[in-house]
Amino acid sequence: MDKIQMTTPLVEMDGDEMTRIIWKYIKDELIIPFVDLKTEYYDLGLENRNATNDQVTVDSANATMKYGVAVKCATITPNAARVEEYNLKEMWKSPNGTIRAMLDGTVFRAPIQVKGIEPCVKNWKKPITIARHAYGDVYKASEMKIPGPGKVELVYTAADGHEERVLVHDYKEAGVAQGMHNLDGSISSFARSCFTYALDTKQDLWFATKDTISKKYDHTFKDIFQEIYDNEYKEKFEAAEIEYFYTLIDDAVARVMKSEGGFIWACKNYDGDVMSDMLSSAFGSLAMMTSVLVSPKGYYEYEAAHGTVQRHYYKYLKGEETSTNPVATIFAWTGALRKRGELDNNAELSKFADRLEKATIDTIENGEMTGDLKLITELTNAKKLNTEDFIKAIRRTLEANE
Ligand code: NAP
Ligand code: MG
Repeated sequence: MDKIQMTTPLVEMDGDEMTRIIWKYIKDELIIPFVDLKTEYYDLGLENRNATNDQVTVDSANATMKYGVAVKCATITPNAARVEEYNLKEMWKSPNGTIRAMLDGTVFRAPIQVKGIEPCVKNWKKPITIARHAYGDVYKASEMKIPGPGKVELVYTAADGHEERVLVHDYKEAGVAQGMHNLDGSISSFARSCFTYALDTKQDLWFATKDTISKKYDHTFKDIFQEIYDNEYKEKFEAAEIEYFYTLIDDAVARVMKSEGGFIWACKNYDGDVMSDMLSSAFGSLAMMTSVLVSPKGYYEYEAAHGTVQRHYYKYLKGEETSTNPVATIFAWTGALRKRGELDNNAELSKFADRLEKATIDTIENGEMTGDLKLITELTNAKKLNTEDFIKAIRRTLEANE
């Protein structure tokens, strides 16, 4: 069989630990035998980030802006323990943070649903997609430990030098303080990404903040969404028979639990971080969640929503058998290949992505799966496979489905 040809390369961002091992298995077993894979390769593994003073992360984001589509492996965000473990020159920043700050935009996360792995919430019949704002708030905050009595103020010094101040707190004892920010431009592009994605996928859009308490900060998010909706999207939504719905975050949480799914839930940065893990666990597993960063300029970066699965990697290093779920990483590749196919008018490539996703789902529905899924499946014929054998099983299904 001839391999499917590619015209434009994908930006390939390699990563760390168990997901780096899986990355190679996926390429070797599931992609390279079928596609004449063209990538521009960036090694975002922690050792190379350290060796390049993290320049490689910046280069990979620039390449994404050049080519439009990237696929990223999970990477370690260094903490003090990692600085020691990898003998790092510095506690390098989160690569996702760096890339998101450069591309801007919104992260969309949706569960991958398979028969036999049912959501714990019985009434969820359709996937719920989380749209997470990828800029600012607590992720770009400045913090202080307040050692004892004294005042903390927010001071705005305008370009012309005039000042505005608000009191944060008049401390009578030690405590903590935090200043965070966001930008109208970033909130606007968040809103536009969400409205566009809702139209693309023909799903309702929900958005929620805590505007009753945060009367300036969160209220600005609410106002910008409403203004952009009214001016740019209202008619399109009505024509597509979908709805934009704003409510308070606590009300949204309650309604999500009672809903049947099938909508996009736009969340501020922190809410999206927390709620996407809640949703993915409730839908089955963190490893059954797709994740794509959509920038307002039309750049796409596909990844898995989970981390580098460190615990499994240490078992792997000791030569012990691992059963790490590669599904989210496979779907990062298929998402990127499908998008590349769309942009290049390469229908064969997009069709291959569909076939690989189907083969992955069929394999699980036939009872072959990794340990995390075996624990939660309702299938009675389920068999736990190790990481490599599961990927080989997907290849067999893919070839048998031809
Ligand atoms: P993690 O890699 O998501 O894993 C946490 C636990 O979830 C695992 O120990 C495992 O549970 C389960 N799990 C996650 N993915 C799985 C998979 N594919 N198959 C089977 N089980 C899976 O989170 P972490 O261990 O807290 O973080 C490890 C590293 O990942 C950290 O250095 C962190 O900085 C990084 N991280 C990167 C990203 C990213 O690049 N997008 C995101 C989050 C974290 P059991 O151990 O119970 O089997
Ligand atoms: Mg998180």
